[in-house]
Amino acid sequence: MRTSTFEILRCPYCGSRLDLVTSSFHQLQGDEIQHGILGCQCCVFPVVDGIPVMHLQPAATKARELVERGETVNARRVMFGLDEADLAVGERVDTLIASEAATYRTIVEAFGEYIEGGYFLYRFADPTFVVGHAVTRAVAGTVLKHGGRAIDICGGSGHLTRSLMDLSATAPVLADLYFAKIWLARRFTAPGCEPVCCDGNSPMPFARGAFRYAMCSDAFMYIWTKRQFVQDMLRVIDHGDRGEGSRESAAVISHTHNQCTWTPSHGQPLTPDGYRNLFETIEPRIYGESALFADVVNGGPLDLSRLTPSGTLEAEPALTVIATRHPGVFVPHALEPPPDQARGEFRVNPLYVESGSSVASVVFRLRFPSDDYEQEYGACRQYLPEEVAIPREALSALAAGRAPGNLTDLVRRRVIVDLPRRYDAPVAGIT
Ligand SMILES: [Zn+2]
Repeated sequence: MRTSTFEILRCPYCGSRLDLVTSSFHQLQGDEIQHGILGCQCCVFPVVDGIPVMHLQPAATKARELVERGETVNARRVMFGLDEADLAVGERVDTLIASEAATYRTIVEAFGEYIEGGYFLYRFADPTFVVGHAVTRAVAGTVLKHGGRAIDICGGSGHLTRSLMDLSATAPVLADLYFAKIWLARRFTAPGCEPVCCDGNSPMPFARGAFRYAMCSDAFMYIWTKRQFVQDMLRVIDHGDRGEGSRESAAVISHTHNQCTWTPSHGQPLTPDGYRNLFETIEPRIYGESALFADVVNGGPLDLSRLTPSGTLEAEPALTVIATRHPGVFVPHALEPPPDQARGEFRVNPLYVESGSSVASVVFRLRFPSDDYEQEYGACRQYLPEEVAIPREALSALAAGRAPGNLTDLVRRRVIVDLPRRYDAPVAGIT
């Protein structure tokens, strides 16, 4: 963690500021704390591999004792949840991390089924991500125009945090309880973000007004203490009298499930009114995700000026909730043009396999990894064609990180995706 993070970090329990306990074991690298112990007025927390662990669950306490003894690799293993698992798994992960060959995919695979489950390789092109990304770019792009910082709460391994990297004036914070996921984000998905390990069911370990944009995507239905969470989300973006008009902030809860409809995953979703009632001091707008998805598939604009009747909302499997007083948010937002230079590396979407070729081009065919995937994310057929031919010279340009004009539409439709470096999705057609 950067030492400047002390400006926004607070103890989730006593609310006081934290400091490095210099009498305990610590390792610094430039202005970053790699390992060490942070103290407030009530307790102590460890920093493990550059990540402050701001909760007191058993693993955190154990990791803190190990950091105090200078056993930093073991502390990381405890935070990964691998200390009591198969010892061979822990050793395999440690060896991999130490090697140059480590990628997002190889580390996830070394963990086995413990993190990320199945479909992370396809995340950057799935319908949930596509909507979350568009909402993030529109709302964060508006409220952060004149500066300010963003936080992605329960952001997992940082897929949407990556969408905030160039919008947040200082490095966006990625907060999540799962240490392994934010560790992967810091190293691969969103390098440069500021990860903080904390519990979404406890008060957030941040100062009032630390941020101008706070979001929670695809996770809010799993939070039990929803009322506390929303009030706290509003607290960390509260600038009191300092935020006026175009300097106002925003809180966004995207892809949260709806109690009125059946969805295959767990958690405790609320009704649209249930979500609305959590916001006691500000009236949020609630959107059905299918309308936002249609906006994106149709090439925009993303219409956040729409008012959705409650009967329509009740039929929606997933909802997006936006609370803000910024005048520029509840309007139609043009979609950004697709990038012509890769931020990471351009790849043919790994949902495609090579099905034929000619001298001039390679033909790719859409193939889902499983029936379950197709059932959950099959809406991607609305932008991913069944079959597509890509000229060979275009494939060479992509490998060099460029998407020439004739590929713009394929990038927009996510047939070609801009993946983080060393994400290591399988190369389409090479099986
Ligand atoms: Zn405290």
